Amino acid sequence: MPLLIKNGRIITADADYHGDIYCAGEKITRIEDSIDPGSLPSDTEVINASGRYVFPGFVDPHVHVHLPFMGTFAKDDHESASRAAIVGGTTTYIEMICPAPDQEPMDAFNEWQGKAKDQSHCDYSFHLGVVRFDDLAREQIRRIVRDHGIASFKVFLAYKGALDISDENLFDLLSMGKELGVITTAHCENATAIAAMQQKLLSEGKTGPEWHEPSRPVRVEAEGVHHLATFAELTGAHVYAVHTSCAAAIEEARAAQARGVKLWVESVIPHFALDHTHAEQVNFEGAKYVMSPPLRDRANHDVLWAALASGVTSTVGTDHAPFDFNGQKDMGKDDFTLIPNGIPSIQERIDLLHTLGVKTGRIDLNTFVRVASTNAAQIFGLKGKGTISVGADADIVVYDPEHKHTLSAKTHQSQVDYNGFEGWEVTGRAETVTVRGKVMARDGGFVGDEPGRGRLIQREPTHF
Ligand SMILES: [Zn+2]
Repeated sequence: MPLLIKNGRIITADADYHGDIYCAGEKITRIEDSIDPGSLPSDTEVINASGRYVFPGFVDPHVHVHLPFMGTFAKDDHESASRAAIVGGTTTYIEMICPAPDQEPMDAFNEWQGKAKDQSHCDYSFHLGVVRFDDLAREQIRRIVRDHGIASFKVFLAYKGALDISDENLFDLLSMGKELGVITTAHCENATAIAAMQQKLLSEGKTGPEWHEPSRPVRVEAEGVHHLATFAELTGAHVYAVHTSCAAAIEEARAAQARGVKLWVESVIPHFALDHTHAEQVNFEGAKYVMSPPLRDRANHDVLWAALASGVTSTVGTDHAPFDFNGQKDMGKDDFTLIPNGIPSIQERIDLLHTLGVKTGRIDLNTFVRVASTNAAQIFGLKGKGTISVGADADIVVYDPEHKHTLSAKTHQSQVDYNGFEGWEVTGRAETVTVRGKVMARDGGFVGDEPGRGRLIQREPTHF
């Protein structure tokens, strides 16, 4: 059904104006000061957006849905994750393919794509996690890039002995990325230092979730960013530091950018909203707030916001990783290193960013769109996403900037059993959300039908 979005205030990464948007056949086909509904096909649905912001659909560049961890799996599937995303205003996400250490890359691609294909309500892509890099893997990785439109890699400098990549392989992979025009995203923490510090703390009887942060302090992350930047500089590869959490790491990134290293920076919403005291709560409550890099001292928040405003940081994602408090997080009851990592926020990201960033004046509306949508679309080659322009996909969020509501596990769409922002009041809500011209959320509720309408977005490598 064609859509006319009328009388909205249209806000993109670089514009802010009033106008009407007409969508037909999954695309935006007209944007004008005023479009007369009488001139349109009779089945056109008119959405009144007066008093509302009209944003391009938001893009989350960092989510986990199908996520094995020590014999268990994260709680969402693509049906619930994409439902949560859409209700929160996110219309495209990039999930990480997280292969087992000995799994062939093509087999992993097929496994992850198989989970998303008939389940996702929204469009999606994948970062290809690289944990094995022998001749067979190299050949398959090239094929995945070429034949399946996967234009980004993911590596871990952290998680020693499980997922971490050796320096030899990091150098070779970045060289391959440069050759293929593929950007490499990286979890930047020094794996060796973390492993040693974890063992030291555990041997001292320090086993609770409050010891997670001290086992991987800010220097461990700053060293990781420095390490990635060094290898990017030596190979000429384009790289992207995921979930950058603190001033020390931002400073390393800024210095690398200043000397011409092609390094992009992501931060994720928990690091703007929460701090290490959340992980220090008694009765193991702190386990809800265990993620890596860990929640930091609040003093880092101003630096993270300033980095968004200045452009040092390009994107705000979530690192959505939904493990239940009961039955999963408590696997680490006696040993914080066994707590599954993650603070789910795929639905909450946009309203938290709006409440904590825009409403407080820390970032303006154009920056908001840029960091939550446009930059991710551009960096990762998601054609048709991240903008409101004629020819773009009709992924649109009609946003009520004054609507107040309370975040809670009782009302969220994710299947995880807790909400890290339980009871928080936020201002702003995605009122109407469209995915390629189809209304998928109304009045903040999900109205999509059969799962599987979401598509794998094929991406072209652009990072030569
Ligand atoms: Zn992640």
